[in-house]
This record gives sequence, C-alpha cells and structure tokens, in this order.
Amino acid sequence: MIQIENVSKWYGTFRVLTDCSTQVAVGEVVVVCGPSGSGKSTLIKTVNGLETVQRGEIHIDGIGVTGPRVDLGKIRSRAGMVFQGFELFPHLSVLDNLCLAQTRVLKRDRGTAQKRAMQLLERVGLAAHRDKYPAALSGGQQQRVAIARALAMDPAVMLFDEPTSALDPEMVNEVLDVMTDLARDGMTMMVVTHEMGFAQRVADRVIFMDGGRIVEDCTKDDFFGDTVGRSERSRHFLSKIL
Ligand code: ATP
Ligand code: MG
Repeated sequence: MIQIENVSKWYGTFRVLTDCSTQVAVGEVVVVCGPSGSGKSTLIKTVNGLETVQRGEIHIDGIGVTGPRVDLGKIRSRAGMVFQGFELFPHLSVLDNLCLAQTRVLKRDRGTAQKRAMQLLERVGLAAHRDKYPAALSGGQQQRVAIARALAMDPAVMLFDEPTSALDPEMVNEVLDVMTDLARDGMTMMVVTHEMGFAQRVADRVIFMDGGRIVEDCTKDDFFGDTVGRSERSRHFLSKIL
C-alpha cells in the first residue's frame, strides 16, 4: 500500500533523511518512533507529498508520490493526514469542516457530503457537536473531528504525526481509542507517536528512527521483546520512555 524506497532528503546541505526504505501493507498499522529531530515528521510528510525528496521513490497504492507531474490532489485524497495541532478551519462549523473537501475535491453534492460527515461524527462520538465551531470544543474533541474530517475523503491510508502530543493527558485516550477502532476496522495506518502503550496494543510493526535513518523496522513483538539483535539506540530510547 505504501512503498518507500531509498528515500533521502536534504534541507540545503543538511541531510535530514538517509536511504529510508520500508513498506506498509494493506491493513497494517506501523508506529514510527525515535528521538526528537530524528526525521519522523519529515518522513511521514514525504508520504503524501507535503515534503519533497531529492532521492528515492514513494508510492501509495501504486501511485507515484515522488517525481515530476505528481497529482498531489489525488495523493492527498488517498492519504489522510492528522497532525499534532488540530488545524481545523476555525470559521467553519464541525459539520462544514467535514464537508468542505468532500464537496470541493470529491465533488460530492451537499446532501451526500453531510450524510457521510454525520456517519463519521457518530463514529467518533461527536454527532451532537455538529453545529459548534472548533474553538468551542476541547482539544481531544477537535482532534477527533480532525480524524473524522480526514476519513471523510475515504482515504486508503491514514497518516498521523503525534496526534496526541499537544493534548492534556486526560484527553489522550479518547483520541487513541478512535485510532484503535480505526485500526481494528482494517485501516492502513502510519503513526508517529511516543505512546508506546498504543504501539504495544495496536501496532503490527514498529520503526525506530535516529539521525534521519530507519534504524529498526520490526514486528511489535520483536521491538518490545528481548531480541538480541535490537540496536543499542532503540533499547536506550525505550528504556527512557517506557
Ligand atoms: P520531533 O520528535 O521533535 O517532532 P522529528 O523526528 O519529527 O522530531 P523532523 O521534524 O522530521 O524530526 O526534523 C528532522 C530534522 O530536520 C531536525 O533536525 C530539524 O531541525 C530539521 N528540519 C525540519 N524541518 C526543517 C526545515 N524546514 N528546514 C531545515 N531543517 C529542518
Ligand atoms: Mg515531529
């Protein structure tokens, strides 16, 4: 579903990604972790073309994300993305936040878009808040709206970049619960997070990045287990955050 092959990226002379390769299969949940500045956000943003790469190739569903003549609109509707900050449109109601891209990008009529929006708001437990503006919602509720908004495009994959790290602790679980449900429903997901409990419960695989490289790419059981081959750096990282 997602194929990342030998991707390297530079900001000027600073090499932020070095020869990153991995795949995410249909229905798989891959957690990406690693120290601050290791390139996690950069890598996940390359997947839907928010960041370009100088070397290597990325495909989603066989569609090229890298290279010339990329249809970014098409890519972004295949890959939904949720960020740390909630990034809802502040001047639109919850319902309109979910409808905007459906009508503009997917050309759905308003009735169809609203119907899909309401299904998704039910799913994230926020149907009663349809007419509120984002500022009237808690951080956890806003993030659940952001997830529903991304899902409204019927994406093939969902990309998350630290979706809970800006939330007050009591709101983290309501967002992780929505993500867990999504994973259980078979969504293909790539999730940058430090929530190792979520990784242990939900991930199929864990990628550990350091210094712009993928240092570990293994099954969850290998990552959290006692595998002899695990790198010193990922052991050290885990020992600090578990
Ligand atoms: P964090 O856990 O803090 O979110 P991260 O693993 O997501 O970190 P990135 O945001 O991908 O790391 O950044 C990787 C490196 O690239 C960092 O050293 C960062 O300073 C650098 N970097 C990120 N964006 C830019 C930019 N636009 N220009 C120059 N350097 C950048
Ligand atoms: Mg980041």
